[in-house]
Amino acid sequence: MTIYNLGSINADHLYRLDHLPRPGETLAALSYARGLGGKGANQSVAAARAGGAVRHIGALGADGAWMRARLVAAGVECSAVAEVAGASGHAIITVDAAGENAIVLHPGANRVITGETVRAALAGAGPGDWLIVQNETSAQIEAGQIALEQGLKLIYSAAPFEAGAARAMLPFTWLLILNEIEAEQLCAALGVGLGDLPVPHVLVTLGARGAVWHDLGAGAEVRVPAFAVAARDTTGAGDTFAGYLVAGLAEGRAPAAAMRLAAAAAAVKVTRAGTADAIPAREEVEAFLA
Ligand code: ADP
Repeated sequence: MTIYNLGSINADHLYRLDHLPRPGETLAALSYARGLGGKGANQSVAAARAGGAVRHIGALGADGAWMRARLVAAGVECSAVAEVAGASGHAIITVDAAGENAIVLHPGANRVITGETVRAALAGAGPGDWLIVQNETSAQIEAGQIALEQGLKLIYSAAPFEAGAARAMLPFTWLLILNEIEAEQLCAALGVGLGDLPVPHVLVTLGARGAVWHDLGAGAEVRVPAFAVAARDTTGAGDTFAGYLVAGLAEGRAPAAAMRLAAAAAAVKVTRAGTADAIPAREEVEAFLA
């Protein structure tokens, strides 16, 4: 069972500053760090560290070789990550002494992924395989159509939330993943309650309160608590949860068992600073659970 992930890959450039720059101000940073990020890359790293067979579908500019290398080192197969003209996706993250941040995000290569790239990448995919999609790339609708045609299970994380994108993706979705805020936004945009969303399964993550899987066809729900840990940095918690969840489902676990594995992985992640680089390996997660 292969886990395909059509997803964003971003360079996170993190600058610590005394204060956030005012218009016209030039300000020297106190420190700089570069890391791999982007929802798609985080999810692929999580699913691969969980032990899944993961093939990432995406795009990088010529400046992205180090990001490809990081993904490959995490165990993600990257032959369907195209090299395109222009800059890779990146985020300029500035954080002041009080922890307040201001972020500039340039989607770059993530938004020039074509339907042909996705079709070629999924040529050998079929029933039993999984496809993860989020809102930080182009070509999601083509991916949804291919998933439907070829019998893949599509997991759609409606983040960052965009009502039009969500509306277009729901007809192709087997499992919809939302955090609490996205769940509210989607229900408001469609004018329906959670139980009336037009998909078979919805997973809502509730931060430190855990997660709930709604099987809308069966009218059943599975609630899994979060693990109590001292949270240091919750960035990437949802992506870690999603990647581990899909890997758990792909190895044949029932939702409750896959969610428990995912909650443990996310709990370990939030005790560490960083995003992709801070996602734990399966052994660390099993040790946490033991
Ligand atoms: P997102 O990062 O997408 O907003 P959430 O904040 O809902 O997602 O977190 C996803 C999952 O990560 C939660 O369901 C939970 O299992 C875990 N998690 C998040 N925050 C914490 C925390 N403070 N302590 C323990 N687990 C957490």
